[in-house]
Amino acid sequence: MKRQAPALEAALAQLEAAQLRRARVTIEHGAATGRILRLAGGRELVDFSSNDYLGLARHPTVARSMAACAAHLGAGSGASHLISGHGAEHARLEEELAAFTQRERALLFSTGYMANLAVMTALAGRSERVILDRLCHASLIDGARLSGAQLLRYAHADAGEAARLIEADPAHTALLATDGVFSMDGDLAPLPQLASCARAHDLWLVVDDAHGLGVLGARGGGVLEHFGLGSDAAPILVGTLGKAFGSFGAFVAGSAALIEFLIQKARTYVYTTALPQPVAAATRAALNIARLESWRRERLMALVARFRAAAQAVGVPLADSSTPIQPVLLGSAAAALAAQRELAAAGYWVVAIRPPTVPAGSARLRVTLSAAHSDAQLEGLVEQLGRIGASARAQAQ
Ligand SMILES: *Cc1c(COP(=O)(O)O)cnc(C)c1O
Repeated sequence: MKRQAPALEAALAQLEAAQLRRARVTIEHGAATGRILRLAGGRELVDFSSNDYLGLARHPTVARSMAACAAHLGAGSGASHLISGHGAEHARLEEELAAFTQRERALLFSTGYMANLAVMTALAGRSERVILDRLCHASLIDGARLSGAQLLRYAHADAGEAARLIEADPAHTALLATDGVFSMDGDLAPLPQLASCARAHDLWLVVDDAHGLGVLGARGGGVLEHFGLGSDAAPILVGTLGKAFGSFGAFVAGSAALIEFLIQKARTYVYTTALPQPVAAATRAALNIARLESWRRERLMALVARFRAAAQAVGVPLADSSTPIQPVLLGSAAAALAAQRELAAAGYWVVAIRPPTVPAGSARLRVTLSAAHSDAQLEGLVEQLGRIGASARAQAQ
């Protein structure tokens, strides 16, 4: 370790010099309502960075469900699902997720990262190929790499290139995988085209709808409902529970055979401790609210429209996104970081997203909207974005 320290310090200094070093902020407190973060030290910021799209993470019913379950069953599950960690709350949540996604079965995972590793490694092997969108989430890419299959990536949202890659060797192509809503861009995968292409080649389409479920579609059914596609269009659906559902964990939904196979084969399912049951209890409460309170989705989409109109009116460089993920494209890491600092000074927490999370030269502020934001908070943010843009333009002249 002693010998390695100078090399690590040099690597860190290089990140710093390139404006690519990342830092955490410690959140002391998030208010029960509203979107206020209090940082260690007492400063308060309006949070436009979280994935809590429906405002459920601090919902009192959700929090009470977790506490009541913990009082009854304790904090930890004590073992993996296949030993003695699988509880009644897990089983009920899996049934409810299967019903919600209109699939035969659903299987809980501790995180979305692990769910994607499970799908890719269990269903693709060494002599096969997997085909992914270039902007897929890191966990799909890592899962594909870990599977040992040949990883081929098509230009973002280019269903034509996906089809050409498949047609080059359909017999050895195991999976076609995509995000439903792209996490750093907010745009949607061309699912109707990808689904028909997968069907034509009798290929599994994996859709990771981490940012669509709960948010898109009148029922919150996600990107498939948005496009009017049935569950057969994407036989393998991955969802996360730490975003719109405000809780923690993830799931894979699909046929009974798929789920049974994952239980047997997926190493990120078999060799890990089961999610705590109180977390599953909280998710059940959140799923119920997300299902029933469609006003949350309507409010969220109204805020998206309002944000886009107001931001465009003051010249903010928005991406082509109709979801609550609204990137403000700035280009260099330095520009994105400077904008983040200025917004924080003005009382708004929006985070600069830099390479390698996004391609070089496409650093951005990632603004995320929530049904829990007020109109005044939204207007305040847009005013600051406009002011920052105007001063950057003045400096450039
Ligand atoms: C967040 C995210 C994941 C990972 O989910 P976690 O539960 O946070 O591990 C996977 N895929 C996509 C598209 C995501 O945005």
